[in-house]
Amino acid sequence: MTDSQIKNTFCEKALECGCDLLMDEPMSRHTTFKIGGPAEIFVEAKTVETLKKLVSWAEESKLKYMLLGNGSNLLVSDKGIEGAVITLGGEFKDIRLVSEDTIACGAGVTLAKLSSFALENSLEGLEFAWGIPGTVGGAVFMNAGAYGGEIKDVLKTCRHMTQDGQVVTLSENDFNFGYRKSIYKENKWTILDCVFKLKKGNKEDIKAKMTDFMNRRTSKQPLEYPSAGSVFKRPEGNFAGTLIEQCGLKGTSVGGACVSEKHAGFIVNKGGATCKDVCDLVELIQKTVKDETGYQLERELIIVE
Ligand SMILES: Cc1cc2nc3c(=O)[nH]c(=O)nc-3n(C[C@H](O)[C@H](O)[C@H](O)COP(=O)(O)OP(=O)(O)OC[C@H]3O[C@@H](n4cnc5c(N)ncnc54)[C@H](O)[C@@H]3O)c2cc1C
Repeated sequence: MTDSQIKNTFCEKALECGCDLLMDEPMSRHTTFKIGGPAEIFVEAKTVETLKKLVSWAEESKLKYMLLGNGSNLLVSDKGIEGAVITLGGEFKDIRLVSEDTIACGAGVTLAKLSSFALENSLEGLEFAWGIPGTVGGAVFMNAGAYGGEIKDVLKTCRHMTQDGQVVTLSENDFNFGYRKSIYKENKWTILDCVFKLKKGNKEDIKAKMTDFMNRRTSKQPLEYPSAGSVFKRPEGNFAGTLIEQCGLKGTSVGGACVSEKHAGFIVNKGGATCKDVCDLVELIQKTVKDETGYQLERELIIVE
């Protein structure tokens, strides 16, 4: 089969099994950076069964595919994405209480929904996630964290699908979690759903903590501009933002991409920034910081080419 026959067959099968499908869908609509060219095929899976079919057709025909959460840690190429971008809707958005202190939810649930559900049920442990604009799948993949909390502290079990369609459950000691690191980053698996173990707490205290974290975000982060959050990981013994600021790089721009004046660890899209603008600015920051401070900044942002 030719490349275009493979893609057409994949699309026909996806439509037959009830998936929503878009062709040449601009990724700038699906990333918080508002940057990125078109995804050739943009498909939403609503059930584990259909996801299994999509993954197995793609694997069999060697069609490239990737999983997309909320696109809040991604920088997508201006040329776009070849093959299929798969998002999770339908049952992947379900959330429920399984016991007094335990929540189960699909990988497509947002962290906003998860942390407010925990609050409604007076469960503490997820306050840190309030304000991180990702999905559960993306957060587990990244081991997202803030203000002293991380996904690794609350995740009990997680189900994923392997490339050959097996559904596997991992638990506590299997995740290989580290700073912005998990076993899912090392494998081409699809995270399906998760179980979070929390602690019964006081609703007012939980709410106060969430409000405090959100206030800190709004006062320190440039939330008024599109971005993908912190571009760099925290280097040992220092902060990326502090080093970048020390080098006088606040406000430095390449095209529409600019080092935020409010938080030097963020690159913001001031309007019309391209992937190339951001990549060039990232390189400029890394080189300047290395030359002036000796620190080698490592990217947290994932580039999709
Ligand atoms: C304003 C702002 C503030 C932020 N603050 C923080 C913060 O405080 N702490 C923090 O850790 N991060 C922060 N981030 C970064 C980002 O929100 C997190 O990394 C988040 O966890 C990414 O989730 P996502 O759903 O958007 O994933 P995406 O960006 O869509 O994807 C990230 C990676 O996860 C993979 N992935 C997504 N879903 C699945 C799945 N179901 N199965 C397998 N792989 C999957 C993708 O393929 C991709 O490789 C911030 C971002 C912004 C824009």
